[in-house]
This record gives sequence, structure tokens and C-alpha cells, in this order.
Amino acid sequence: MLEILERLEKTYNGKDYAMLKHAYDFSRKAHANQKRASGEEYFIHPCTVAGILIDLGLDAATVVAAFLHDVIEDTPVSEGDIKKEFGEEVLELVVGVTKLDKIQFTSKEEEQAENFRKIFVAMAKDIRVIIIKLADRLHNMRSLNFLSIERQQRMARETLEIYAPLAHRLGISQIKCELEDLCLKYLEPEFYEYLSTNIDERLKANVELVDHVVDEVKTILKESGVNGDVYGRKKHLYSIYRKMKERNKTLDQIYDLVAIRIIVNTVDECYEVFGKIHHKWKPVPGRIKDYIATPKPNMYRSLHTTVVTNYGKVFEIQIRTYEMNHAAEYGIAAHWKYKEKKNIADDLDTRLTWIREVMEWQGGLKDSKEFLNSLKGDIYSSEVLVFTPKGDVISLPKDATPLDFAYNIHSAVGNKCVGAKVNSKMVPLNTVLQVGDVVDIITSQSSKGPSWDWLKIVKSPSARVKIKQFFKREMKDENVKTGKIMLDAEAKRRGFNLSELLTEEAFLQISARMSFNGQEEMFASIGYGAVSVNQVIVKLIDYHRKSQPQQEITKFFKTGKKGDSSVKVKGMAGLLVRFAGCCNPVPGDDIVGFISRGHGVTVHRRDCPNLKQVEDDRLIEVSWTDNVDSVYNAGIKVVGNTQAEILSVVASTVAQFKLEIVSTNGRTDVKSNQATVDFHIRLNSKDELNNLINKLRQDPKILDVFRTAN
Ligand code: MN
Repeated sequence: MLEILERLEKTYNGKDYAMLKHAYDFSRKAHANQKRASGEEYFIHPCTVAGILIDLGLDAATVVAAFLHDVIEDTPVSEGDIKKEFGEEVLELVVGVTKLDKIQFTSKEEEQAENFRKIFVAMAKDIRVIIIKLADRLHNMRSLNFLSIERQQRMARETLEIYAPLAHRLGISQIKCELEDLCLKYLEPEFYEYLSTNIDERLKANVELVDHVVDEVKTILKESGVNGDVYGRKKHLYSIYRKMKERNKTLDQIYDLVAIRIIVNTVDECYEVFGKIHHKWKPVPGRIKDYIATPKPNMYRSLHTTVVTNYGKVFEIQIRTYEMNHAAEYGIAAHWKYKEKKNIADDLDTRLTWIREVMEWQGGLKDSKEFLNSLKGDIYSSEVLVFTPKGDVISLPKDATPLDFAYNIHSAVGNKCVGAKVNSKMVPLNTVLQVGDVVDIITSQSSKGPSWDWLKIVKSPSARVKIKQFFKREMKDENVKTGKIMLDAEAKRRGFNLSELLTEEAFLQISARMSFNGQEEMFASIGYGAVSVNQVIVKLIDYHRKSQPQQEITKFFKTGKKGDSSVKVKGMAGLLVRFAGCCNPVPGDDIVGFISRGHGVTVHRRDCPNLKQVEDDRLIEVSWTDNVDSVYNAGIKVVGNTQAEILSVVASTVAQFKLEIVSTNGRTDVKSNQATVDFHIRLNSKDELNNLINKLRQDPKILDVFRTAN
């Protein structure tokens, strides 16, 4: 532990060193007498974490926070103490790491998404919090063998799922590779054993050959007058493991166990050496990759090629500048390590853009599952690189379309997109883009915005989110209207009035489960497709039934007409028959009888919603007789512009058919400015009812007519 003080003294200036020394002493005192699972002093842990961060070149405040990162959680030290001793900046970092420590990872998708969200909030606030956390996780993974097998597995899975991808995304390949190898060791111990022994053997056998190739490359550099370093580099185990799994290969079929790395001073020299290597050795087709012209999404830059050397052995060769090499090893941390270089600051900005974008999506997302998908999709999905007409590189997920491209540029470009050219040819918007395509988006100011189909076309999560945001924001009123009409129609289809289903209490029930802030939002969500109309209507009907069982039973008998001879009950004579008040059957309707205890048979329309909840053995077949001399009440709902207009049209039509209006009940919807009037009409048969409805439908003043359930 003394050595870390030496390193601090060597690395940081006098003032920073004083603060670091203070943090070292403070942490040592706070953790005194605490032990790790390994039995060693606890203080070793913060020291190692600090050491990892010194290696990465992080600033003094971060290393101070590393010494202190466990004191709030595990010792009596308070936030106030840290603020007093080390100031606000350090406190913020320590609190950030402490918060992340409390996140419990679970296999439940929803909770997992919530955890990601917390990580991103922390990242957006100060990226150094995540870097400390990665160092912390690295040391914990290194000393995992002291924990129970169950905890080893859980920790390793969590690391492989979350921390290694984060390190990758931040470009810190040092940490990412070590984390992945440690995960492999605990998750696939046998495979790990097999790989490490066998790879080592093969490497030993090839040592001379690697040396020889390195020497030849050095000669090429010397002859070209280029200064640089050349060395053989072992690939990390997990990358070999993944290749074997994904491409179903044996270890013998993987030829690049060692990569030859060439590091030079300038980009020009990279390409010069690249050409000379290919002059000397034949490249393997399809294995040349220019990540300098088109960097990977995590900003990785390098030239890759695989060549067949004159010894018959195949080697992967990586050519890059020193600066690219730093960026590849340290990723976002290079910002601190090499901060005097301006373009690395730009680099940091680009990396942070990614985090900011994720945060923006998060703001527009209510559904945590979708958030998780967008995040995972972004980390894991393979990419296709395409170009703007100006030659800028855009990275999109595999199978992306011109719409993904348009939304990647800006949501305004996406929303106004009316067409696309790929390699100067007009193409349909659902065309799958290929690597290297030049994409030109055609926009129009008169475009009304995206269409619903686009959600099926786009492949990138961010484009999906942006389209949904458009529907949500720009078309809110439109959505409310559409949603309401959809819900209304579905209620009607199932034999209900929306107004009777959507009571204040029913809505509260629904919003408790689906978290709508008000009915408008519920309608809008249905309208823009975030929630299906069925999801809502089923819950409403459910609630309706649960809340009104009493009422429904009495409804069966409410307005039934006694001793009617127009209906006969199958196999029985002289049975007391009533007509159900809930659905008001009229002759011609498909009907069924309900045997009510002590009340004979009640006749319902077969599609009466109230019958859906009764036991089948209480239903009995009934049919209409020819003896139709009674009168019946049927309910209809009529929609029009004003109540007065509806009343006058219906009244004259009813009179024309020599029928009678029994009751009316109207209302006007202020929003849609439409009037609805419910009528009960006294009539003799279904034909009469159908004639009436058809006649009303033909009237231009009537917008809609339909029979109601009651
Ligand atoms: Mn820790």
C-alpha cells in the first residue's frame, strides 16, 4: 500500500497530492478493522480501485473519490464529513457511486430497465461516477473467488450484461477485456480452462514465428523511413470464445490468436505501411477493415487486415497511430489522460452525445421495457455504416432503412421525409440499407408528418421513439379524438355505451394500473397506438361487471313484460316469460331464455352482454311464435350535429313508420361538437326496427345510427 502513495506522488502535483494523501489516510482510518471476504484488510479495496484509476489517468478528484467510495455505505462517515474534508465535487462523486451500489440487479426486465435508467442518470451527471464504478467492479471481479458460487454467478452475469457493455461503449477496452475474461472464468469455468491452457500451448509453439513476423514488419518500417512500434498481442479469451460460439468453430479454425500491432505517428504513415504490408503478403479477402475512415460507434479507429505470411501462417495486423491506440485502450478516460490534445476533447463530446441521446429518449419514454430495448439494441446490435451526400458516416443498426437514416440526422428531417435516394436512385422508404450506401433524404415542408406504418419500417430504437414522440406531441388533439372514437366503437361493438363503462371510478382503476394522467391521455395513448383499445375496454367491462352485479340481476326483470305468447320455450308450455330490460329483444332478434329462480324465463338477445357471465345450464332455447301482437321497446343511439336536428329527423321518421318514441335522452359533446340522442322506440318486430335504422341512416343530417344494448 506504500507503493500507491509513491505512484500518487509521481503522478499528481503538490496540491493534488496533499488532497490525495489526506483521502488515503481518511479512508484507511474509516475502514480500519474491516476485512474483505478474502480475509485481507478492507482498505486494500479502495487502494486498488484508486490504482486502476491512476492507470487510466483520471484526475485527482476522481482518485480521491475512489479512496472514499465505500465509506458512506460501510463506515460511520457521513456525507457532511466528506463535504467538509474534500469539498462538493468529491462528495458528488462519492454519493453517485454509493447510489449505484444500491442498485439491485434482477432478471425482471422492468426492474432491469429501471436500473439502466439510474446508471444513465448518474452518467449524464458526471461520467467519472461510472468510471469509478467500473474500476470498483473490476477489483471485485478479480477477487470473486472468495464468494459463494451463487454470488459469483450472479455477479459475473450482471457484469457481462451491464458493466462490460458499458465499458465497451465508453471505449475503455482495457477494463472491458479483463471484465469479460473474468466473467468467462466464472460462468464457463471448463471452457475457460480449456482455452487458457490450449491457447498458451499454441502461443508457445508460435513464439518464434510471431517474433519473426514482427521483425519483418520492423524492416518494412525501417525501409520506409517510418518510426513506430511493432509487437505481437494476444487476443483476449472472451473474444476467441465468442468467435467459436457465434461462428461454430473449433480452436484450430481460429487463426488470429495473436494480432500484430503496428503503431506509427501519423494517419498517412498508417496507410503507407498498410500498402507495403499488402505488397509483401497477400491479404485474406473480406478481412480488410478501415476503421480510420469509418470509426466504430465507440470511436475505435484503426486499420485491420489479415494476411497470409510466407510461412503459410495467417496473421491479423492492426495499424494505428499512438493517439488512436490511447483512445482504443482508454476510451473516454483518454480525455483525462491525454487532455492536452484538443481532438480528444472533441472525442469526449461525441461519446457524451451518445449518453445525452439516451437520456433524451428516456424523457420521451414511459414504458421502461421499451427503454431497455432501445438501450440494449444500441449496445448490442450490429451496425451498418452509410454515408450522407457530404460524406459523413452514419452508423445504423443492421437492416436499417432510409427512415432510420433520416431520424438519425434529426427528428425534423425524419418527420418531413417524403422520399429517399440511395446511391442517386429513388428508392422506397422501406429499402434495407447496405454498408457504404450514400443516402439522400428528400423532405417537404408540406409533409404532415410520419405515418403509422413507419413504426413497422424503422429498425433503430431511437427512430421508433422519435416517431412515437411526434404522434404524442404534435398530434395530441388528433390522438385524443381518434382514441375516443376507437374506444367508443369498441364499446359499441361489445354492446355497451362508453359513457356507462367509463365512470370516474372505473377510470381511476385503469389509471392506477396504466398510469394515465387524465382521460385525455388515455384517449391519446389509444389514438397513437401506445395502448391497444382492447386492453382498455376489457378492463372497463371487467370493472363494470364487478361493480354492478346487483344492478344487473335486477335489470333482468326491470321492464319485462308479463305472460307474453309471442315467445315459446323449447319443450315447455305455459311458462311465465318476460322480456329482459337490459337488451330489449324484438321479434326477429336471435334470442335465448334465462331461467331465473321463481321468476320463470327471461328472454334476452343472444348477444346480450349480461349473458356472458351466467352459467350455461341456466340458459334455455326459446323462439319467436307467429303470435306477435305485442309491442316492444328497442333502444337506438343517433349521432348528429345538434340534438334538435336529431329529434326532428327521428320524430318525423318514426311517425312515418307509425311507431312511437317512448323516451329520449340527449347530450352534446363539447369537444367534438357532436350531439348524441338515445331513443327507446315502441315497435312490433325487428324488421320495423331495421327499416327505421336504415331510413335514418339515409338522412344527411344523421351521422350515425345503431341499436344499443338496452
Ligand atoms: Mn467498492
